[in-house]
Amino acid sequence: MHTRLAASGLRDVADKLDAGIRLELDDGVRLFEAPDLHAVGWLANRERERRHGGRTFFNHNIRLEATNVCVASCLFCAFARLQPGDDGSYTMTLEQAWDKLRARGREAITEVHVVNGLHPDLPWDYYLDLLRGFKRIRPDIHLKCFTAVEIAFFAELYGKTDEQVLRELMDAGLDSLPGGGAEVFAARVRRKICHDKCDGPRWLDIHRTAHRLGLRSNVTMLYGHIETPAERVDHMLQARALQDDTGGFQAFIPLAFHPDNNRMQKLPAPTAADTLRVHAVARLVLDNIPHIKAFWIATGVDIAQTLLWYGADDLDGTVQEERIYHMAGAPTPEAMTTDEISGLIRAAGRLPVERDTLYNVVSEPDAAPS
Ligand code: SF4
Repeated sequence: MHTRLAASGLRDVADKLDAGIRLELDDGVRLFEAPDLHAVGWLANRERERRHGGRTFFNHNIRLEATNVCVASCLFCAFARLQPGDDGSYTMTLEQAWDKLRARGREAITEVHVVNGLHPDLPWDYYLDLLRGFKRIRPDIHLKCFTAVEIAFFAELYGKTDEQVLRELMDAGLDSLPGGGAEVFAARVRRKICHDKCDGPRWLDIHRTAHRLGLRSNVTMLYGHIETPAERVDHMLQARALQDDTGGFQAFIPLAFHPDNNRMQKLPAPTAADTLRVHAVARLVLDNIPHIKAFWIATGVDIAQTLLWYGADDLDGTVQEERIYHMAGAPTPEAMTTDEISGLIRAAGRLPVERDTLYNVVSEPDAAPS
């Protein structure tokens, strides 16, 4: 492999990693541009195994989008319907949302993951009651709800500070924030693809506040549209800088752009090679974020398995009723059982570990006896 690294011009990057020296913007861009994808993957896998060996995490969760009514107009979004009453728009009643959890009452689900459109007319109590109701049904369930984009929207709509919004949601049962809405932090990209929702600095600041209040969170990156390699690496470096300050991110989650049923249909979907490379570079640049997640709903199951050798150590969850990617044309199933996820992890030559949202081990069937 040393010869291949040298042939790809990556010998000095490998030396930096060996010496524990952080990669910077130029290093990351070179990793994106190096011709030998497998050399990049080999470096990422080395980092992945140094941290986690062959262990691969997943959780038993449900995902719920309570409304797809949204005042924003992100070009890549196939999920949102602008107005209540538009074709295909929906808003669940609280009972309908709670029924999604009640219906799975016998399963050992540990997390409810909620993200929504930015609905202009719902009362603030809708969101507080939503959380309180989930906790009434399952007091032990972890509620990972509302992207920073939603938190910013709530603050503006209901006349509160970001911190007040977070505190009131925490009082109602919020346990952590998902990483959505980060897209690409670069202002150039946001102006073009999502100009009317919270910007990169505000997104990061909301996560900073959440971490200060004791919440953990994740950070995503929507890749494969108009962003440049430098903008990808810059996005990672901004997440890394916040993590240096707070330590509150648990996982970095690359999200593949899906081009169906949205206003960016002319663009091709990212290739498998690009998906492998994005995860690998993330593992190498983000030396302070513990987990790199392969979101199998977006990548497809086969590529997700391969990603477990390209830096990723987490496969997200069992995920029921995912709509955001499926409305954008994702051909993946909407759910897998824990046995199915464990089986595909084993088939990829890795060791399945069921975790809860905070990465406490729930079950590790292949662990060596102590
Ligand atoms: S990505 Fe989110 S904020 Fe943007 S239009 Fe879709 S639902 Fe609305």
